[in-house]
Formats: sequence, C-alpha cells, structure tokens
Amino acid sequence: MQIADYLSKQKIPIPSDYNKKTRGTKSLTYGLWQQSTVRFILSNEIYTGTVIQGKRKKVSFKSKKFINLPEEDWVKVENMHEAIISKEDFERAKKVIQATKGSRVVQNDYLFKGLLRCYDCGGYIGIRSPDKNGNIYGRCQRYGRFGKFDVCSPHNFNYQVFEEQMLEVLREVCKVYTNTKKLEEIAKQTKTKQCKEFDIKKQIESFKQEIDNETRKLEVMYDDRLAGIITLDEYMKNANRIKETIKGYEQNIKELEKEISCKSYKTENESRLDNLIEEFLSMEKPTKEIIREFIEKIEIHSDKQVDIYFNFKPLQEMNEKLNFICARKSYEKKVG
Ligand SMILES: [Zn+2]
Repeated sequence: MQIADYLSKQKIPIPSDYNKKTRGTKSLTYGLWQQSTVRFILSNEIYTGTVIQGKRKKVSFKSKKFINLPEEDWVKVENMHEAIISKEDFERAKKVIQATKGSRVVQNDYLFKGLLRCYDCGGYIGIRSPDKNGNIYGRCQRYGRFGKFDVCSPHNFNYQVFEEQMLEVLREVCKVYTNTKKLEEIAKQTKTKQCKEFDIKKQIESFKQEIDNETRKLEVMYDDRLAGIITLDEYMKNANRIKETIKGYEQNIKELEKEISCKSYKTENESRLDNLIEEFLSMEKPTKEIIREFIEKIEIHSDKQVDIYFNFKPLQEMNEKLNFICARKSYEKKVG
C-alpha cells in the first residue's frame, strides 16, 4: 500500500490509464494505484526478461473455456528481451511478498458480503471486522482506500441493523408477491393465455403463406425475363422489391416466434422463483447462497438510502410497488 500511495502522489500513470490511451479501456480507480496492481507487477517475471507460456490451456478446440495449469508445466524462457529489473531484485521482492502473505486477517463471512455497492462511486461496500463493542460497520471501500485522496465519502452504516432490515424487506417482498400471484391466478383463466398463443401461431402461418406467394411471383418473373417479356431493368427493380417484402415477413415471423418462446421461458423462470421463495421463507437463518439467487446487488447512498436490485423481474417490480406505497403513505401522513 505504501508503494501504491507513493506512486499515486508522484502522479505516475496507472497501467489502466495507459491502456485507456492505447486500447480505450476504462480505469475505475481515478488514476490512483491499487495494492493489487503493485503486487501483480512485482510478481510478474516478464520484467526480468523471462517469457512464460502455457500457463493455461483450452478445454477443447470447440470450447472457449481455459483451465489453469500447474507451475511445473509452464514453459519459461529466460533472456527473451531486455530486463527492466535484475533477477536479484525480483527474488528479493518475491521473498518480501511471501513473508507478508497470510498475515492479513480473514474477514467473517457475512450474509450480504460482496453484494453491497456504493451508489456514488460504484465501488464495493466493505464490511469491517467487529469493533471492541462488537459492532460491525459497512463502509465504501474506495473511500477507505482512497479517501485521503478525496475520493468518495464514508457511507458508514451499522451492518447488523442493516442485515436484519434487509431480511425483513426481502421476506415482505416475497410474501406480498406470492399472495398477489395466487389472487391473480384465480382471477385469470389460463384459457385466455392459450388462445393468445393459438392466435400468434395462426399469424405466423399466414405470413409463411405470403412468403410462398411472393416467392412464386419471383419465379414467374424470372421465366418472363428468360422469355424476353420484361427488360432486365424491370426485372431487377421488381425482384428487389419482392425480396424486401419477403424479408419483412421473415422479420415478423421471427418476432412472433420470440413472443411464444419468451412466454414458455417466463413460466419456467416463474416456477423456479416460486420454489426459491418457498425455500427462503421456510429458513430461519437464510444462507448466503440463497440470498445471491435473489439479489443481484444492493446500492447504498451516502444518506443511507438503499436500492435493491433483484435477479427476478417480478420481485423487482413488486419491490418498486411496495416502495411507492410506503413513500405515498409517509407523504399522506405529512399532508394529513
Ligand atoms: Zn464510494
């Protein structure tokens, strides 16, 4: 961290800023150095003139997946290019890194760890170890790391209280969603849905018929052209027009087919969600895994406002609806 801060103060450009200039990628650290970058550079043998190949290989020629290979299988070739640092310096740095490895305290495994983001800078919200009173606090990690360079603000909050409230919100959203859905199902007959699918299929058939008609027209025109009845110019003009029409029909069919497949996907997704909700509501203490199934991320504002992003659209909509009702209630209270 000291090296990283020294480089930041000296205004040495970070590698991703350099990449931005050459490759157009974006930096997320405001041009400030991170420990991980320094560690990566210090552990990279390429700066000693050595080139390493075969660190990973493709699972198969068909797959895009790679697997990492053990270090003894790597191919190392020394003195491939001019070294920036000596081998001795590299080895010394390696020893220092190894000596500090494992000295960091492993953080507790909190339920919402990894899901919390800072609304203002987009970085992670870190959950700190309990203080001497046993209180656990969350804080913007970028502020924690780069606050001294005026990056972001603390976003401090009591994690224990937050976790309890979040679980309450999650249960409430799930319960209201399930109840509303039950009511809806009773009110809505599945028949109407089936009718709609039948209509779409009929429409697709009629578009296919139109494509057949247009294709036949093309064939007739081609014969006319061969017999010299129409000029090449006329043929080209009409043929292009017909081909455009066919393209339009094909596009329509594609969209209608999407509509049908979308529906079956949705119902499949819905039953997965129903099972998940049932499991979640039956748990006294939910697991990290099930929370991750539900929630994509949670954003924390500096004024402690919380935005939940669900992995399931129906839950997202239900949460927004509930928020709206709550907001209106408090507004009515104020007005009243
Ligand atoms: Zn932040």
